[in-house]
Amino acid sequence: MELPKIVLLGPPGAGKGTQGGLIAEYFGIEHITTGGALRINRELETEQGTPGSFIDRGELVPDAIVNEIVEVEIGKVEGFVLDGYPRNKEQAEYLSTITEISNIMYLDVAEEELIKRLSGRRVCSECGENYHIEFHPPRLDGECDLCGNKLIQRSDDEAGTILNRLKVFSEHTKPVLEYYNNREGFVRIEGRNNPDDVWEDIRNILEMGDGK
Ligand code: ADP
Ligand code: ADP
Ligand code: ZN
Repeated sequence: MELPKIVLLGPPGAGKGTQGGLIAEYFGIEHITTGGALRINRELETEQGTPGSFIDRGELVPDAIVNEIVEVEIGKVEGFVLDGYPRNKEQAEYLSTITEISNIMYLDVAEEELIKRLSGRRVCSECGENYHIEFHPPRLDGECDLCGNKLIQRSDDEAGTILNRLKVFSEHTKPVLEYYNNREGFVRIEGRNNPDDVWEDIRNILEMGDGK
């Protein structure tokens, strides 16, 4: 059986990272996160500037940089879940020229809830594990459950930048939803539920898809 090739779409804070990790582990596929790859390459000098300069303003990193990352990562694996890509129509069109996607999952969450999730998000400075001060707190205050290192707030999870990211989503990423809307394999997932329930919905849909 062919491994799934999944696109996980959703606004900032919808739970893409959380669910992407669960999907990848369960199906034994790669979790490809453009945000993660760009943060590792924050200071990379390119003709268009460094990724970090765009991330910190809550803007999209130029397509040329992101498309290259995705093409390289996809080329290394059989199955994957793409988290945070495509984020505009040009990226969606580019993706269609390099691979065939089996499932497109849109995690839908209302804006008010997104702001709560993003402003309370904390990440491990070493291993990247994700927490929330209220919805998913670490066992010890400010300390990673997995590796004991310090939890930090992402530079773009600051109030003003959050609002800009939500605006960028409406302007640039909503057209991607329209682009995929009538395609086979497109589903909208109710993302407002707790993480376990969201995961159950996603798993059911993916397992139904290949007749397991
Ligand atoms: P994204 O990758 O879409 O930005 P994350 O997976 O990083 O989203 O989740 C954003 C924040 O919300 C994190 O702090 C995470 O712990 C928390 N979170 C994720 N899923 C849920 C959920 N279903 N309910 C409440 N909080 C959640
Ligand atoms: P979130 O979903 O919580 O906004 P991500 O980690 O997916 O977080 O993205 C963080 C930032 O990385 C984005 O605000 C943007 O600057 C950049 N980025 C991530 N993916 C893309 C992409 N596909 N195209 C352009 N920029 C991207
Ligand atoms: Zn850690």
